[in-house]
Amino acid sequence: MRFSKLRLNGFKSFVDPTDLLIADGLTGVVGPNGCGKSNLLEALRWVMGENRPTAMRGGGMEDVIFAGTSSRSARNFAEVSLQIDNSERLAPSGFNENDNLEILRRITRDVGSAYKTNGKDVRARDVQMLFADASTGAHSPALVRQGQIAELINAKPKARRRILEEAAGISGLYQRRHEAELK
Ligand code: ATP
Ligand code: MG
Repeated sequence: MRFSKLRLNGFKSFVDPTDLLIADGLTGVVGPNGCGKSNLLEALRWVMGENRPTAMRGGGMEDVIFAGTSSRSARNFAEVSLQIDNSERLAPSGFNENDNLEILRRITRDVGSAYKTNGKDVRARDVQMLFADASTGAHSPALVRQGQIAELINAKPKARRRILEEAAGISGLYQRRHEAELK
C-alpha cells in the first residue's frame, strides 16, 4: 500500500484545506520552527485511528481542531483524509476492491470522531485493524516522533517487545484475542 495524498482541513494549524502529495521515493518536509511539520505527521497518525491525546500533544482529542487565532475564529470540526494507491491490491481483505482507498476521519466538537473508507461509514476499530494488519498503524515504528529515538533507547523490555510486535504485523492479532477474551 502506498500513501499518495494527505488532505487536512481544520486540523491543528492547517485551518484551510491543504493537500500534501506524497510522491514516490523520499519526501522531506522543511520549514521554520512552529510552521506545522510535526502537525502533518500527527495528522497521518490521527487518520489511522490514534486515540491517545498525548500522542497528539494535546489534553483532549478535540485539541486537534483549529483553535483560532487573533484574526481567525476557531473551527467546529477537523478532517483528515488519506489517499492510498492500492493498484497492487495490497490492502487487507475487505478494503481491497478499488485501485484507490480513501480513509477519512472527522471530529466534531461535542460529537466525537467518525470514520469513512471510500465514502462508507466504518468504525474506528475497522480503520485501526486495517493499518495494524498492514503494519503501518498509528503506533507503527515507521512513524518516529521527535524525541522518540531517546525513548526507544531507554524503553523497558516489555515496551520494546510491543514495538517489535507492531513491526512484525501481529499486533492486530493480539487486539482480536483481547476482544475475544472479553466476549
Ligand atoms: P519544530 O521545528 O519546532 O518541531 P514544527 O514545524 O514541527 O516545529 P508544529 O509543532 O507542527 O511545528 O506546529 C506547532 C504550531 O501549531 C504552533 O504554532 C501551534 O500554535 C499550532 N497549533 C497546534 N495545535 C493547534 C490548534 N488546535 N489550533 C491552531 N493552531 C495549533
Ligand atoms: Mg516538530
